[in-house]
Amino acid sequence: MINKIEHIGIAVKSLKDSNKLFESLFGKSHYKIESVESESVNTSFFKLGESKIELLEATDDDGPIAKFIAKKGEGIHHIAFDVDDIEAEIKRLKNEGFIVLNDKPKKGADNKLVVFLHPKSTNGVLIELCQEIGK
Ligand code: ZN
Repeated sequence: MINKIEHIGIAVKSLKDSNKLFESLFGKSHYKIESVESESVNTSFFKLGESKIELLEATDDDGPIAKFIAKKGEGIHHIAFDVDDIEAEIKRLKNEGFIVLNDKPKKGADNKLVVFLHPKSTNGVLIELCQEIGK
């Protein structure tokens, strides 16, 4: 089952500059910075009530975030939904005809197992499913 929007991911050129910008916007500081090597990104997270914003900065010019910014510029990169059983959701969504980008969930930022759905199968929106590790 898909429970709720867990976070919205925003691609930025500079995590340092954007942390400042979003700190001004939200009136509060980010609560964590984390690098995810498998995705070639540095991330920072802001928490607003139940919702989170994830800023994503490329660490590699050939990585997914660098490519996204080169093509579309900075902006909303993905929407992440919280799920209870990511393996079951992968199976269910594949059966429904969605294109799942990785067959096995991988370790993402913020203590999560994650999987992405190809935007081609979701009206142009990159969708992340995430399950908290240990939940
Ligand atoms: Zn994310």
